[in-house]
Amino acid sequence: MMIQEISPSVFDNTYTPDRAPTPNDYLLIVNGPMIVSRTGNDPALPTFADFGADVAAAFPLFAIDDRYFYFAPMDAVESPAGFEPHHVGELMHTMPSPLNFAAVTAYHLTGWYADNRFCGRCGKEMERGTTERSLVCPHCKNTVYPKISPVVIVCVTDGDRMLLTHYAGRDYTNYALIAGFCEFGESPEDSVRREVMEETGIRVKNIRYYGSQPWGLSSSMLLGFFAELDGSDVVTVDRTELSDASWFRRDEVHLPDDRISLTRDMILHFINHGNNI
Ligand SMILES: [Zn+2]
Repeated sequence: MMIQEISPSVFDNTYTPDRAPTPNDYLLIVNGPMIVSRTGNDPALPTFADFGADVAAAFPLFAIDDRYFYFAPMDAVESPAGFEPHHVGELMHTMPSPLNFAAVTAYHLTGWYADNRFCGRCGKEMERGTTERSLVCPHCKNTVYPKISPVVIVCVTDGDRMLLTHYAGRDYTNYALIAGFCEFGESPEDSVRREVMEETGIRVKNIRYYGSQPWGLSSSMLLGFFAELDGSDVVTVDRTELSDASWFRRDEVHLPDDRISLTRDMILHFINHGNNI
């Protein structure tokens, strides 16, 4: 399970800039990573019915099933009683599915709006697209789309062992896989080879695609790969990356499913099924 796996619910990113909200639709009040919400025993995101008056600044983001999600900036709207700002990284874990996915995805999109208020080419104020999810400069027609940066995540295996990274000095609850942004001019497979070499000094072969995940926290599209050790298994850790990397047999790693991340999904896949994908 991963955060975007919300079946039987269905995510719909159709662009509906002129749609009028109904009382049942969600309104996310956002300021950077903070989203007005309710946590605790009865976690919830506010709906328009929770607000006393019409919210003129609200703009639609997406829908899940028949419920639309709108957003408005925090300085334009007063939070309803019982709701207060919470960090999206917290909501990712405390909101029930699919609201945790909605919160992270809203953060991705609202962050893009906040970061692209002015044209990067001529400096004029951008306007929201009328027919597609874009921002358009009325002066020079420069058009920008939501930023989605590809990232590779790599499970390097050698027989029954896998290469895990972890922060040096801490206990081993924070296992991760080698990961990094694709750079210009690279195929994802090129990025796999470069990232593994940079972080561990290891060569890989038999690079195979496993699966993907939209990851709004870093405006990313995660692309998961399995790859096999090619040659020496001696790890040379890049200390500038602040983490350590070493080999673990799959029967010595014990992790619960966090029901969120592709990384965890891939580690559990190797523990349970080896590198058969
Ligand atoms: Zn412009």
